[in-house]
Amino acid sequence: MSDVSGTHDVVVIGGGPAGLTAAIALAQAGANTALIARRAPYADNRTTALLGGSVDLLQALDVWRRCADQAAPLQTMRLVDDTGRLIRAPEVRFSSDEIGLDAFGYNIENRAVMAALEQRAAELSDLTRFDDEADTVAPYDTMVAIGTAHGKSLSARLVAGADGRQSLCREAAGIAVKRRDLNQSALTFNVSHSRPHRNASTEFHTAQGPSVFVPLPGNRCSVVWVAAPSEAERLIALSDDELSEAAERQSHSILGRLKVEPGRHLFPLAIERPQQFAKARVALVGEAAHVVPPIGAQGLNMGLRDAADIAAIVRQAMASGEDPGAPQVLKRYDSARRADVASRTFAIDIANRSLLSDFWPLQSLRAVGLHLIGSIGPLRRIAMREGLAPSWRPTRRVS
Ligand SMILES: Cc1cc2nc3c(=O)[nH]c(=O)nc-3n(C[C@H](O)[C@H](O)[C@H](O)COP(=O)(O)OP(=O)(O)OC[C@H]3O[C@@H](n4cnc5c(N)ncnc54)[C@H](O)[C@@H]3O)c2cc1C
Repeated sequence: MSDVSGTHDVVVIGGGPAGLTAAIALAQAGANTALIARRAPYADNRTTALLGGSVDLLQALDVWRRCADQAAPLQTMRLVDDTGRLIRAPEVRFSSDEIGLDAFGYNIENRAVMAALEQRAAELSDLTRFDDEADTVAPYDTMVAIGTAHGKSLSARLVAGADGRQSLCREAAGIAVKRRDLNQSALTFNVSHSRPHRNASTEFHTAQGPSVFVPLPGNRCSVVWVAAPSEAERLIALSDDELSEAAERQSHSILGRLKVEPGRHLFPLAIERPQQFAKARVALVGEAAHVVPPIGAQGLNMGLRDAADIAAIVRQAMASGEDPGAPQVLKRYDSARRADVASRTFAIDIANRSLLSDFWPLQSLRAVGLHLIGSIGPLRRIAMREGLAPSWRPTRRVS
C-alpha cells in the first residue's frame, strides 16, 4: 500500500528535542517542512542544562515562554576533585556574574522542553507532522524519496536526519561513523533535598567519571552519576532509601538529606563522530551527528546549534534561489558544524580521559590546568565563555 504525501523543501526525520527544534526552525525560516516522528511520551527523566545561545534560540522560536517556569537558573558551577588521589586538582568555582550574566543557562527536564516544542510545532502552517517512522530513505540527484512504516511516500529536496544514534538517514547518505564505547554508564535520577542549592551545580570528579548535581526548581536537583558499568548496575538496583543514602554520601551532604524521586535510567556512554555532517541531500542533526558523554552539558546544546545552522543556511539558500539540498549548500552546513563539534568532542574526551587515567603525569597536567583556570581571572572567564558556545561562531538569523 502506498499513499503519496507530497513534495517538501525539507523532511525532518526524528522527533527528539533536536529534530523538533530543527523542524520548527526550518518551518519558521519559510521552508515547506514535513516532520516524520512518532508521537510518544518522552521516555526518560533526563534533564538538560540549556546554556546561553540555546535559550536564545528557544526564545526566537517562541518555545521558551511555554516551559521557562519549569527551569532553574544556573548561576554557579563548582568542579570538585573527589578522586582521593595523591595529586588532586583544587576546587574550581565559576560564577555567571563574573562574565556579566544573570545565569549560565537553565536546567530543565527534557520532558518539559519536549512538551513546549510539540505545542509550538502544532501551530506552524508550514510544518506537516506525520505520526510515523521512516522506513526507507533513498537519495537521488534531484531529491530524496522517503517511505514510511505506514506506507506513505514523501519526497524532499533536503532531509534533516535527526534520527539519533542508529541513524537510518546517516546510513542512507553513506556517511561512515567512528564509534568508541567508553566503558562507563550514566545513571540519571532526580532528588529532593533539605538544604537549598542556591542555583549552584556541583560536579564531583571521581576516578570512574563525574557525578553531577544540577539544580531544578525548588529544593530539587537532577543527578547524572557516571560510573563503571558494573557500579552503575549496582546503583540502579538499590532501594530508594539505599540510593538516597549513596547519593548523599557522593554529594558530601552539601545539599543536606537527599530523597530520590521515582524514575531511574541508565545510559551506556560512547563517543561517535561521523565523517561528514552532510552528504547526498542529507544533513545530520543532533545525536545522529555527534554523541559525547555528559561532561560540561554539551550534547543537546550542540544539537540545538545544528538546528539553528541548518535553518539559517536553508533560509539563505532559498532566498537566493538555490536548491536547499544542493552540494554547495550541504558543504556550507558541513563547514558550519565541523569546528564546533570537533573541538567540543575533543575537549570532552580529554577531560574524561584525564579523569580516568592512572598515568600520574596526566593527573598532574589536569591538576595544574584546573589550578590555572581556578586562579587566573582572564583564563577562567575565557573558559566560561567557551563553555557556553564557541566564541568564533557567527550569529545566524533563525526567524
Ligand atoms: C545522562 C545524559 C545527560 C545529558 N545531559 C545533557 C545536558 O545537560 N546538556 C546537553 O546539552 N545535553 C545533555 N545530554 C545529551 C542529550 O540528552 C542528547 O544530545 C539529546 O537528547 C539528543 O537528542 P536528539 O533529538 O538528537 O536524539 P534522540 O532524543 O535520540 O531523538 C531521536 C529520535 O528519532 C527517532 N527515530 C529514530 N529512527 C527513526 C525513524 N526511522 N523514523 C522516525 N523517527 C526515528 C527516535 O525514536 C527518537 O525519538 C545528556 C545525555 C545523557 C545520556
